[in-house]
Amino acid sequence: MRALTIIVICWILISPVFAQQQVATPTPGIQTTVVSQQNTAPVPVPEPSEKAQSYYRSGIAIWLLSTIWGWLILALFLFTGFSARIRNWAQRLGKKWFFVIGIYFALFTIISFVIDFPLSYYVSYAREHAYGLSNQTFGKWFGDSLKGLMISLIVGFLTAWVPFLLLKKSPRRWWLYTGLLAIPFLIFFILITPIWIDPLFNDFGQMKDKALEAKILNLAERAGIEGGRVFEVNKSVDTKALNAYVTGFGNTKRIVLWDTTISKLDENELLFVMGHEMGHYVLGHVWKSILFFSLLIIITLYAIHRTAGWLIKKYHHRFGFNQLSDVASLPLIILLFSIYFFIVTPIALTFTRYNEHESDRFGLEITRNNHDAATAFVKLQTENLGVPRPHWLVRLWRASHPTLGERIDFCNEYRPWERGEQLKYAHLFQEK
Ligand SMILES: [Zn+2]
Repeated sequence: MRALTIIVICWILISPVFAQQQVATPTPGIQTTVVSQQNTAPVPVPEPSEKAQSYYRSGIAIWLLSTIWGWLILALFLFTGFSARIRNWAQRLGKKWFFVIGIYFALFTIISFVIDFPLSYYVSYAREHAYGLSNQTFGKWFGDSLKGLMISLIVGFLTAWVPFLLLKKSPRRWWLYTGLLAIPFLIFFILITPIWIDPLFNDFGQMKDKALEAKILNLAERAGIEGGRVFEVNKSVDTKALNAYVTGFGNTKRIVLWDTTISKLDENELLFVMGHEMGHYVLGHVWKSILFFSLLIIITLYAIHRTAGWLIKKYHHRFGFNQLSDVASLPLIILLFSIYFFIVTPIALTFTRYNEHESDRFGLEITRNNHDAATAFVKLQTENLGVPRPHWLVRLWRASHPTLGERIDFCNEYRPWERGEQLKYAHLFQEK
């Protein structure tokens, strides 16, 4: 589940920024009528259900355990000398430097995949079914897992040699060059993801409900986003949860709506969600995130640079290598990357929460529909088994978005247009 490459780790770390704007479903007893435009009554933040609380608590336990498990496995690769043995196999099979690295990477990735498989099965399949959040068949889940593995193998095989070449050629500055090279790589990966990667897992197409699409495109036009940028995806084959997100870069940049979201939100709620996504789009959150995370990656690589040599000096007899430029050090690089990134996670999430909050603001300003925005979040909480006010530590380390409680509160409060105040983003969209 975690294992795999630094590239994949980077991707996993940044993907929540682009790929997780959740939405919502009707709760009995909560007002979700389409009266709204005039409905200014504050929407109460509902108490989480027993089931949601249990999902939340067990989720924290699993997150901590799987984090420690991941570190432990990497440490075992190193301290048992197993990583050095994989390198020896790769040398016998590959002979040439480039192929040795590619084969090492492939073996390491496949072995990690197998070791992580039971945990991965429990977390992303069995548990989701147990909580009634998943529609996925085992075949689809397993097929998707194998496809993910294949993508990691191909991308890793083609790119894993880069940091090792830099380590060899420039042992003192490799961290900087690797970090700088990660920027065009990330841009390329984000560029191709919506057209080459995502369609391997789900069907993406134009929206089916044409009347709704017309309203969304009208909103998009007001935000200066050209048509053809809104896609519907059949996520109902995988999940019952709700979501929408902005993805891609340049020509492939787009807003994607899960069909589950379309079926469970009413029209005005959906329009607010789209307003939020358009906020990400016009506020340039994709490229800002690329810059921000690239900086964080460079800092993390520098921390690896400063500490890896000391660890190798101390434990090289056990590790079976004495240079970071030896491909057998890959588990060490990933382990340190993971630990340092864990430490800076609160900083990263403060950044993503800020962007999400500003997108909420944009969504409210362009729709001026506070009530339906708030009920959308209520539905999100109910459908996705969310907890509105998690523990502050959980918020700090886990929340890429403001908490649902904070978001509903903000929807209830933020009405500058009623007080004749200037809107923060008025210059970014046309009035109705
Ligand atoms: Zn968002």
